[in-house]
Amino acid sequence: KVVCVTGASGFIASWIVKFLLQRGYTVRATVRDPSNPKKVDHLLKLDGAKERLQLFKADLLEEGSFDSVVEGCDGVFHTASPVRFVVNDPQVELIDPALKGTLNVLKSCAKSTSVKRVVLTSSNAAVSFNTRPKNPEVVVDETWFSNPDFCRESKLWYVLSKTLAEAAAWKFVNENNIDMVSLNPTMVAGPLLQPEVNESVEPILNLINGIPFPNKAIGWVNVKDVANAHIHAYEIASASGRCLLAERVVHYSELAMILRDLYPTLPISDKQSTSSSKFVILLAYTTLFHQIGAEPTCIQGMQLNPLNPLIYSYYFGFLPC
Ligand code: NDP
Repeated sequence: KVVCVTGASGFIASWIVKFLLQRGYTVRATVRDPSNPKKVDHLLKLDGAKERLQLFKADLLEEGSFDSVVEGCDGVFHTASPVRFVVNDPQVELIDPALKGTLNVLKSCAKSTSVKRVVLTSSNAAVSFNTRPKNPEVVVDETWFSNPDFCRESKLWYVLSKTLAEAAAWKFVNENNIDMVSLNPTMVAGPLLQPEVNESVEPILNLINGIPFPNKAIGWVNVKDVANAHIHAYEIASASGRCLLAERVVHYSELAMILRDLYPTLPISDKQSTSSSKFVILLAYTTLFHQIGAEPTCIQGMQLNPLNPLIYSYYFGFLPC
């Protein structure tokens, strides 16, 4: 089968491409600049790439850019979206590419005669940033969306971009009869295939470089599990709705301890910075990360947490490739 992965050179997408090629798919991979070796060399070296990887130039903001790529594909994995936590112009740098880009890709899918399912890489950012009470008794379920006004007031621009993009995606697919599953990972860690460090791995690099860590606890999940979850969400017919992907919620001091155990010779930071973020601490309370919206069989191959069959357990992602 032929499938499309948008933003294929990115951290998560590179692993999706690798696993799809391993499983025998022909992969149409979109990148903004196929002539940039930093963006494509690691993809071209993957097993199966010579025979079954096709690179396409496509930009989220260019209307119709994805039409010819998705035509002929059975499945589309839409991962492309800017991941940046510090920006000068949130509308231009984050919101337009996330929101208009997602609709642009979905419009191409709607025009296509071949696409059977879209898997959208959304985020926990689109789920839990709102003013609803959060404590261990509160169940975060598929009805939860982050609140755009809260995001604007709090200047959480990346969170806003993912929230607007996912909400618009559901509206569009419902109106246009497109089968979509959305995956909502927490912070993603694990080995890099691409040469440049991405935003969610940078905090771990900072710990390794001995930089004081923030007083924060957040959810984490391994990049290989996130990539496999995408493939399962596409392959398993009964998969539907929204799926939160989280292995566990940990404080940065615990991350530092894990790293120290794994790499005792590295100068892992043991200092906490004085700053803290109430928003991320709030997230620590959303400990009930549920597999939501789909039958539990939708993410086969992952271990069910014995304490709560709705919570999936993932292994933690600091092991070398
Ligand atoms: P990366 O920064 O590694 O990849 C992002 C990708 O988006 C890049 O391939 C980039 O292309 C592409 N992109 C950005 N802007 C545009 C544009 N205007 N047109 C076309 N492509 C564009 O990020 P991740 O792999 O970490 O994230 C991938 C997806 O997963 C995103 O949707 C993100 O929101 C989501 N996610 C990530 C999490 C994390 O912790 N990493 C957690 C939850 C969700 P180019 O290479 O050309 O720059």
